Amino acid sequence: MKKHNFSAGPSILPQEVFEKASQAVLDFDNTGLSLIEISHRSKEFVAVYDKAVALVKELLNVPETHEVLFLQGGASMQFLMTAINLMKNEGGKAAYVDTGAWSSKAIKEAKLFGQVDVVASSEDTNYNYIPKGYSIPTDADYVHITSNNTIFGTQFKEFPTTEVPLVADMSSDIFSKPVDVSKFGIIYAGAQKNLGPAGATLVIVKKDLLGNTGRTIPSMLDYQIHIKGESMFNTPPVFAIYVSMLNLEYMKAQGGLKAVEKHNEEKAAMLYNEIDNNPSFVNSVAKEDRSLMNVVFLLKDESKDAEFLAACAEAGISNVKGHRSVGGFRASIYNAMPKESVQALIDVMKKF
Ligand code: PMP
Repeated sequence: MKKHNFSAGPSILPQEVFEKASQAVLDFDNTGLSLIEISHRSKEFVAVYDKAVALVKELLNVPETHEVLFLQGGASMQFLMTAINLMKNEGGKAAYVDTGAWSSKAIKEAKLFGQVDVVASSEDTNYNYIPKGYSIPTDADYVHITSNNTIFGTQFKEFPTTEVPLVADMSSDIFSKPVDVSKFGIIYAGAQKNLGPAGATLVIVKKDLLGNTGRTIPSMLDYQIHIKGESMFNTPPVFAIYVSMLNLEYMKAQGGLKAVEKHNEEKAAMLYNEIDNNPSFVNSVAKEDRSLMNVVFLLKDESKDAEFLAACAEAGISNVKGHRSVGGFRASIYNAMPKESVQALIDVMKKF
């Protein structure tokens, strides 16, 4: 029996995508070859790549000023790539908003390349809100945010307005709703939540921000080199890009990101409603900052945690244990999570 998978990532994708991907591994488009044994420079794969890029541009309405790349190394590689590509060699300075573990890791890497000003942080309350009302120094090379905090269950509902280039780690909420890409200098995301399998990293970068640091950037870390090579400076993650392309096609067929957003809002409302009305559970995230992707909650009586997890397992619900730094439970309800699965979890909570 297929489980209700609430994993934070790698995570659920549509069943239809899994089926088409499986078929392509056996025989890609009746070529008599597997998708994963053909050259990345073959016309068949180049067509896949071009389609994936075109769908990203279409779904997110990416302006001409920005380039779309599929790289490797995960979002973690982008922690340093964003910094090395944007921070000036002489007197470089960047502003960071610290909203949890992933922001902190981005900050650690950026410090290798210049001065980092943490302009706001919600560390004081174990990251259960999104800081607001801070100012961003106008002489910063860029400001970095983590749009959705996978571990702590918080999400930016509005992005900072600033003249400084805005860089966002959107690993765990990309494609969950429309965003105005023109407002961002760089958006990056590891694929393994709403996009595709682990192994590909989506980067959307504003071209005129590049080439201005005065640094020597190693080739593999240089966005300009990847742009010139159309993500094929080295062998790209062909399987991950193919599955991402299938999932982008699926999102388009659902009616695009407006429709995806509506579905996500409805699912999150169902679950938060249960948490708020069920006397056994609590969510301690500031209401206006609650993530629509990662719903964290605690049992008021923590001694019953194991019992609740056992009840979930009994109902075919997997991966709801919370991250060790928060405790309790986390239900990741990415795009592909059906309402029926959310309802299955709610049913267990009600019975409990
Ligand atoms: N940023 C966020 C918001 C994440 O959720 C994750 C992974 N869960 C990462 C960064 C790290 O991504 P990767 O493992 O692809 O390097």
